[in-house]
Amino acid sequence: MAVTVIGGGIFGVTAALALRIRGHEVDLFDPDSPHPDAASTDISKVVRADYGADDTLTALGRRALLGWREWNSTFSRPLFHEEGFLLLSRTQMEPGGFEHESFRRQPNLRRVAPGFREAHPDWNADAYPDGYFNPAGGWAESGEVVRQLGERARAAGVRIVAEQTTVERVAGPCVVAAGAWTHHLLPELADRLRAVGQPVLHFRPQDPDPFRWRAPRFPVWAADISRTGWYGFPANADGLVKVANHGVGIEVDPTGPREVPPEWEERFRAFLRESIPALAHAPRVGERLCLYSDSFDGDFLIDRVPGRSDVFVAAGGSGHGFKFAPVLGELIADVVDGLAPHPRFAWRELGERRTEDARHA
Ligand SMILES: Cc1cc2nc3c(=O)[nH]c(=O)nc-3n(C[C@H](O)[C@H](O)[C@H](O)COP(=O)(O)OP(=O)(O)OC[C@H]3O[C@@H](n4cnc5c(N)ncnc54)[C@H](O)[C@@H]3O)c2cc1C
Repeated sequence: MAVTVIGGGIFGVTAALALRIRGHEVDLFDPDSPHPDAASTDISKVVRADYGADDTLTALGRRALLGWREWNSTFSRPLFHEEGFLLLSRTQMEPGGFEHESFRRQPNLRRVAPGFREAHPDWNADAYPDGYFNPAGGWAESGEVVRQLGERARAAGVRIVAEQTTVERVAGPCVVAAGAWTHHLLPELADRLRAVGQPVLHFRPQDPDPFRWRAPRFPVWAADISRTGWYGFPANADGLVKVANHGVGIEVDPTGPREVPPEWEERFRAFLRESIPALAHAPRVGERLCLYSDSFDGDFLIDRVPGRSDVFVAAGGSGHGFKFAPVLGELIADVVDGLAPHPRFAWRELGERRTEDARHA
């Protein structure tokens, strides 16, 4: 009997491909993959193994990095841009702090000082006396990755059904990978998964120098992220500079309107005025309220759903799931094949609310 995967975002499409490669018949349902409202559908996502004191996610992040490097040669063009990751701190890096704990777990890092002003002149170095640059990592063109993996799944024999569906309509094994909509399809998960909106703004700096807002001068960055939430990207091929905030966010109904509350633009510009002054007045050319499938403890949920026969959940990306794309498919296919779930993502009792170390919440 075919395995049905509900949701063609990065969790669903990697699961469908991995299950198909293992010989399963697979039906993948999504009204439109990559879907414009899906979290995975964006111009860019950070790919990092910098996870503070979290050794498990640091190791998994490293495995995923190897996968991205391999995947790059299989895409029509490299979609993972390994240009490094700049992590800045508003104070000296201290033991216990996100930057310090990440720094001491990674090899070959360059501390930003001295030379920060010369290497990254668009930053207000006075506001960021410390931090480091990690050459391992960068960003991926997430929407295009999902599109190309979808094509690969179709070519491998996955039946792609451009429709919405429900668990009740599925006969046989079913993987619910519906992102922020997951707890609507599995109401018993509403106590552990929420839909949380995060504002994303796109700016188009008017600079004659096409390389100004590109790496190495302006790589993917996190600005004291665990204490502010701010992070962003170099300009993409269309000259768009994306800035976002990995913070508390706004709890929303995933089926409701997706508007960025107007007060957020001023918050973005206030941050830019202080940190990247030359970007503070750039025209805003796009905005998006993108939804996290937020788990109660910031960890993914990849396991069999208790009390249901042959229903599996793969969700809870909590704002940091995309980078693990190269390892997600196998983790999800394992639980469908009756193998042990990854211990961090297995079904677990509801517990204390927490988030991953980089998140300001
Ligand atoms: C603002 C923002 C920034 C982020 N930045 C990063 C980052 O820099 N790095 C990183 O690693 N991660 C990041 N993430 C997290 C990452 O994007 C997510 O963890 C990941 O994309 C989630 O993928 P998904 O497949 O679970 O969900 P989605 O991509 O949302 O896909 C879910 C799919 O399910 C489909 N669906 C829903 N209901 C049904 C139904 N009934 N029938 C059929 N299909 C259905 C939808 O159409 C959708 O395509 C970010 C997320 C957000 C919101």
